[in-house]
Amino acid sequence: MTDPNPMAMIDRLARIAAHDAHTAGLKPVQWEALRFLARANRFSRTPGALTAYLGATKGTVSQTLMTLERAGYVEKSADDADRRTVRLELTDAGKDMLARDGTERMQSALKSIGEADREALAAGAAALLKARIEIDGGRAFGICRECRHFERDAQGPRQHFCRLLKEPLNEGDAANICVEQEAA
Ligand code: SF4
Repeated sequence: MTDPNPMAMIDRLARIAAHDAHTAGLKPVQWEALRFLARANRFSRTPGALTAYLGATKGTVSQTLMTLERAGYVEKSADDADRRTVRLELTDAGKDMLARDGTERMQSALKSIGEADREALAAGAAALLKARIEIDGGRAFGICRECRHFERDAQGPRQHFCRLLKEPLNEGDAANICVEQEAA
């Protein structure tokens, strides 16, 4: 099936994804928040970064976090260095919940299309998403190891460093997404 109108395909995919996202008693935005917290680095697991990522209002994000906290999927705590900053973490129940993520059927479909198509789709989707977010003046987010502030092996093998935040980074951090990321 090839539809020459990419906008029509985006619409159909978005509708299927939205349908799949009503799973296990959670709403799509609540799933998005859980997925974000599973992928974001420690500097980005904050209500502010989540708001930027979702492109949602502060009210929506605060309501979403309240529901997830009440359900026991997310925990809030004050930052050790700056008590005014709220940090967010998935609880074990939140991590378990992600195993019930309704995107599973889309993930299976993605696996079935072959590596070359998957890579082309990832590159095209990333470019489209970035362009669309830039229209609203939002932040694209991106993988830490692809950031211009990322210094690989700065403090020894697999001990990286963030030149912007002046913080050490491990392999896990390098693979996560970050609100401050700027493509290298
Ligand atoms: S290197 Fe870039 S992406 Fe990584 S923590 Fe620093 S600012 Fe964020």
